[in-house]
Amino acid sequence: MSEPAPSEGRFGPVVATAPTNVATLPSGAICAREGCGKPFEPRRGGKPQKYCSARCRSLAWEALHPRITLDRAR
Ligand SMILES: [Zn+2]
Repeated sequence: MSEPAPSEGRFGPVVATAPTNVATLPSGAICAREGCGKPFEPRRGGKPQKYCSARCRSLAWEALHPRITLDRAR
């Protein structure tokens, strides 16, 4: 009297995890760092990205905020 347990409902219906509107980007974005200008897909949610990567963001930040020499006592 052992009948196989029905597997339906164990994981629920298969749901696609990918967002359906991934192809409908606003218009894309372009890296704001001078010398890069690479188009990138801005992350959804949160603050809008200006740069294609964290590397460009830090490079642009350093360009905007040049580090003053700390050893000016010399
Ligand atoms: Zn970039």
